[in-house]
Amino acid sequence: MNDGIVDDVPESAALFERASGVIPGGVNSPVRAFRSVGGTPRFIVRSSGCTLVDADGRRYVDLVSSWGPMILGHAHPAVVEAVTAAAAHGLSFGAPTEAEIELAEEIIDRVDPVERIRLVNSGTEATMSAVRLARGYTGRTKIIKFAGCYHGHVDALLAEAGSGLATLGLPTSPGVTGAQAADTIVLPYNDAAAVEAAFVANPDAIACVITEAAPGNMGVVPPVDGFNAKLRELTSRYGALLIIDEVMTGFRVSRSGWFGLEGVAADLYTFGKVMSGGLPAAAFGGRAEIMNRLAPLGPVYQAGTLSGNPVAVAAGLATLRAADAAAYAALDANADRLSGLIDTSLTREGVPHIVQRAGNMVGVFFTEDPVTTYAAATATRTDLYPAFFHALLDAGVYSAPSAYEAWFVSTALDDDAFATIEAGLTSAAKAAAVAFDGSTRNGE
Ligand SMILES: *Cc1c(COP(=O)(O)O)cnc(C)c1O
Repeated sequence: MNDGIVDDVPESAALFERASGVIPGGVNSPVRAFRSVGGTPRFIVRSSGCTLVDADGRRYVDLVSSWGPMILGHAHPAVVEAVTAAAAHGLSFGAPTEAEIELAEEIIDRVDPVERIRLVNSGTEATMSAVRLARGYTGRTKIIKFAGCYHGHVDALLAEAGSGLATLGLPTSPGVTGAQAADTIVLPYNDAAAVEAAFVANPDAIACVITEAAPGNMGVVPPVDGFNAKLRELTSRYGALLIIDEVMTGFRVSRSGWFGLEGVAADLYTFGKVMSGGLPAAAFGGRAEIMNRLAPLGPVYQAGTLSGNPVAVAAGLATLRAADAAAYAALDANADRLSGLIDTSLTREGVPHIVQRAGNMVGVFFTEDPVTTYAAATATRTDLYPAFFHALLDAGVYSAPSAYEAWFVSTALDDDAFATIEAGLTSAAKAAAVAFDGSTRNGE
């Protein structure tokens, strides 16, 4: 359907055409449309463990995991049971429930610097609310974000935001006004000197620095040693808050997220993805002194009709309760195994590449040098990715339809799944090599 790629998936193709008549681009989130890789988005009809089944009855080993949340694999029995039980008692009350306390307690128990938590419906809402709270708390207007870090589609945070914008080659989005963007200072990732210079240039004006704990939305680009600690030091010195966005890393890369691996304490955190087990819920939290500025205790307004939804909370609690030490060990082992297979297959075919890791998040760039900034990420050979992606897909491996996304393992990957992945990577590496050689001959 796109770019002359012929996929033999007539049911998905028919659904995509029908969807495109009623939904812009046929999808409810842009990267799902396969625009940067070409071909037909697969419409999923069911899933179990590490397997997705599409409308044409094809099966895929899933390495997207709903973009991170499904650490236990799909339709995990304990999660499905918890959701079913909660639903039977009612879908939404607009009144508090005990389960919300339990989820808040679970998060606070896992992430030491978090003393209070508030539940919202998406990661976007979490970062939007955290930034508002930081501005309300400090009485300052400017914020610092980093190029390539994605914090959801909050107006003020959409500048050079990685993820779908990177995939579609957009610097930012029309519809974001100059006023909304004017208070956002965008700096190169991993550049502590630039952060210090911005504080010096804007005395008493910067409310917060927001950063992905370990970025996974420009591909996987972990912080260089000491970068997050330096952000902690600079924000404290200049009276600003540090917001660490753990929507992707939280409860995935360890029991306590990236905080558990690095130990840098933020003032505010944002969470999503894993903490709601695949249903729409997210959270922001941090020091009580700051969080207590929220309504109804304080003047910073924040609310939600469906916030703390009992079914979403049940899914999150069941997921976190099943995510024990053994689960995190399995995720790490699966990530090691996947990284090794990616590296081996591309090395064998002579395709320049580097596999980067942030805990059990895996990323591959088609370049030889380590990637530490968004500029470097966008300078890699992303043109090789469509051939690589489609060879994997044809072999029954579902990876992200974008060169700028992480690969997400689950605990459900087994030896059979890895055999499929290994075979898929063997042909994908060959396809990437053909694309690479072709471009070299053409003098690119
Ligand atoms: C996914 C993501 C978000 C946005 O979450 P949504 O639930 O998609 O709104 C924010 N920050 C990071 C780091 C993310 O990965």
